[in-house]
Amino acid sequence: MHGQMMAMPLTIHSLIDHGARYHGDTEIVSVETDGSKAKTTWKGISDRARQLGSALTKLGLFKGDRVATIAWNNARHLECYFGISCGGMVCHTINPRLFPEQLVYIINHAEDRVIFFDKTFLPIIEGIREKLTTVDTFVLMSERDEQAASKIPGLVFYEDFLAAGDENADWMDVDETDASSLCYTSGTTGNPKGVLYSHRSTVLHSLGAALPDTLNFSAREVMMPVVPMFHVNAWGVPYAAAMVGAKLVLPGPGLDGDSLARLIDDERVTVALGVPTIWQGLLASLDKLGSKAESLTRTVVGGSACPPSMIAEFREKYGTEVVHAWGMTETSPLGTANALLERHAGMTEEEQAKVRESQGRPPYGVELKIVDDEGNTLPEDGAAQGNLRIRGHWVVDSYFGAKADTTLESDGWFETGDVASIDADGFMTIRDRSKDIIKSGGEWISTVELESIAVGHPDIADAAAIAAKHEKWDERPVLIAVRAQGTNLTEKELIAFFSDKVAKWQIPDAVVFVEELPRNATGKVLKNKLRGAYGDVLLA
Ligand code: AMP
Repeated sequence: MHGQMMAMPLTIHSLIDHGARYHGDTEIVSVETDGSKAKTTWKGISDRARQLGSALTKLGLFKGDRVATIAWNNARHLECYFGISCGGMVCHTINPRLFPEQLVYIINHAEDRVIFFDKTFLPIIEGIREKLTTVDTFVLMSERDEQAASKIPGLVFYEDFLAAGDENADWMDVDETDASSLCYTSGTTGNPKGVLYSHRSTVLHSLGAALPDTLNFSAREVMMPVVPMFHVNAWGVPYAAAMVGAKLVLPGPGLDGDSLARLIDDERVTVALGVPTIWQGLLASLDKLGSKAESLTRTVVGGSACPPSMIAEFREKYGTEVVHAWGMTETSPLGTANALLERHAGMTEEEQAKVRESQGRPPYGVELKIVDDEGNTLPEDGAAQGNLRIRGHWVVDSYFGAKADTTLESDGWFETGDVASIDADGFMTIRDRSKDIIKSGGEWISTVELESIAVGHPDIADAAAIAAKHEKWDERPVLIAVRAQGTNLTEKELIAFFSDKVAKWQIPDAVVFVEELPRNATGKVLKNKLRGAYGDVLLA
């Protein structure tokens, strides 16, 4: 027997329609590519998104066609997000930090028909344009610009493009399982792989993300996604913000600490989201500018492990709570977020701080487990470490255009490539990427843990631990570290700093000081490169 309730499709249309209807005059603040600030509203975004969707149809695009963006976090990009997906097409967000060959690969692989891009990225488009086999329209996301027009034949300007559309047009009818957006992983090896999100997965992810024990979004928040809109849909913030009707602050290209500190104060930002390196810059600037970031109640930190020293600095100096979260492109991205349980209420601050260090618990909608190399489930006792697997409403089933029907393991779960432990309450702690973990004489050493300790030293700006080859133990930890400006810490002093923090056999054997760590397009340290350069330092 069927239930007798309405079956409304879970589409992105429903998110923007809600935002426009019930929070129509809530502000969207946008830092433009030239650094100026513009303001619009959820209603303004919705009207122009409708026009954009209609213009794409008039251009001759069909449902499911891919439309790319290469842009900062700004209002036009937000219009593209909703206009493309609700216009029935697939919004393919592209990371401009990829190498040109990777950009060409993913644009041709996705078979993008149109590319919307910010002026900053004009040189990139100029460089790759002739190698793109499916794109017939390039749209510059700015006013008319004759200089740009002279570089790209047939270049279209955003406002002209929009003017061709109808702001009263209906959204394209779609099924909730239809594709809505596409994002390629920027792995450290091999070709990027496309993750094709659906309307349904996006709506359910928004609900999961907004829950109080997850990221706790509401219409009372001023949300600033510093995480780029070209990286896993800015962690789904644009969709969840429309769902709850929050004010959004889109920081544009100015991701340095000073610009963010000023924006937080000027716009009274209450929750900001981004990777640890961004917050390092912000914390340094707050100190320098003497700002107390009074409005900022929370930062959501993910993408790589948040060092405990950063959680402490936010809390002690600014009264800002860090919500540590974990996820992947393949998981939309939200897999876990750290919120304390009722039972933690009576603990001391120190004990609570320890709980907050973990990557947190899965919200309703996803499940986690850890398995050994044979796929046997391991105990969730906080001690056992294993390969982390996930399944849920917003987890990938198969990669876009892949030959296999599914990328899942035989048990129907997705193998994350991370090594983790899970405790009895479901709090998950990432120990490492499985290919990075150090296997010393049969015991595992977490590079994440060693790095968190190293950056807790005031004279260390950045650090990566790697497995170096060792004659007796197979592998031993070596730390690659960047000194803070103007400091002169020695190898011996840094190694001594570990002595009361980890077991003796986990202390790095050596430290190599470098000027900078190599990173990929999403800011992750290229450990394979470091292993190539320093993996032999312990051999005679
Ligand atoms: P991406 O698909 O580029 O977002 O990368 C996903 C990977 O980033 C995960 O598989 C983890 O290895 C890493 N990651 C994300 N969040 C965290 C976190 N909070 N702590 C440690 N690693 C993280």
